[in-house]
Amino acid sequence: MKPENKNLVINYPSAKYSWLKSGGKISHLYKIYRQNDLIDLFDESNTREKSYLVIGNLSNTLIKDEGFNGIAVKLTGDFTNVQIKKEYMLVGAAVLDSYLSRFCCQNAISGYEFLYTIPGSIGGNIFMNAGCYNQEIKDKLISVIFFDIEHKKIIEKNINELNFDYRQGFQKKNTIILYGKFKITHGNKKLIKDKMHEYENVRNQTQPQKVNCCGSIFKNPINHSAWKLIKSSIDDSFYEGPIKLSKIHSNFFENDPNISANSIDLFITKIQNKVKDKHKILLEKELRIVD
Ligand SMILES: Cc1cc2nc3c(=O)[nH]c(=O)nc-3n(C[C@H](O)[C@H](O)[C@H](O)COP(=O)(O)OP(=O)(O)OC[C@H]3O[C@@H](n4cnc5c(N)ncnc54)[C@H](O)[C@@H]3O)c2cc1C
Repeated sequence: MKPENKNLVINYPSAKYSWLKSGGKISHLYKIYRQNDLIDLFDESNTREKSYLVIGNLSNTLIKDEGFNGIAVKLTGDFTNVQIKKEYMLVGAAVLDSYLSRFCCQNAISGYEFLYTIPGSIGGNIFMNAGCYNQEIKDKLISVIFFDIEHKKIIEKNINELNFDYRQGFQKKNTIILYGKFKITHGNKKLIKDKMHEYENVRNQTQPQKVNCCGSIFKNPINHSAWKLIKSSIDDSFYEGPIKLSKIHSNFFENDPNISANSIDLFITKIQNKVKDKHKILLEKELRIVD
């Protein structure tokens, strides 16, 4: 693609769009409307040996202050559609979770109620194996359709061939998740709607709302809750200032906007050290930090 291409955004301000409202600029962000845009972009010799980044809804990503210098891709257009086929749903990677959940409710398809409360996209979900309320995206997936940047090929892999685990989904290097094929189970519209609202209420009561955060900062270690480990390891100063944890949920931020991403990263390390000193457990980040 030529630099003047209308799908290219130079110096994309990630802080403006990320859920954390922090982060550096992306030097070259290409909006991809259809599969051919990808073929065109990666056919260009100028994309060789550059770093690649795919962004979804930026609800779990923090780009360091120096910014990302390379080729970033954001799917839109054709990838925002959901199609009901005979035996599966074909869901574009740019479809938002809450949209898919509402779409399923309208079509009396059950099992996607949990997505109503996650602010990501299906691509981000498949990458992270997102989940809540004892359900994960892998339980619903039949296969993942992705673009292999190196070989410039579109490939489909069945979920049985992939090693999804807790917050560890399809993380194959130099690939772009394009679609997920999802299971269809029919249910009762009213029951589906009730469940969505039940999950929403639980979320409202247990997590801070309308704050600058990324969801859980850390993964839960086996047999532990990260928030409990954090709460029992830190003092009150961690709940104050422009970068701070939530008093409602110690594994969530409640930051001011436009905080330096590098300072957030340092704050995360400070929390990790506190927990390590107290409990001898190293918390693993769930938040994806890009440098
Ligand atoms: C308020 C709040 C609540 C949350 N609650 C939950 C929860 O209950 N459960 C949960 O699991 N998560 C939760 N999250 C985290 C987040 O919503 C999920 O991780 C979600 O799956 C991220 O999707 P995204 O589109 O925002 O991804 P991004 O943040 O844009 O990207 C996340 C990662 O996925 C990669 N990626 C995104 N799209 C693609 C693609 N098409 N191809 C290849 N790689 C891609 C990115 O490169 C990045 O590494 C929460 C976040 C917030 C802000």
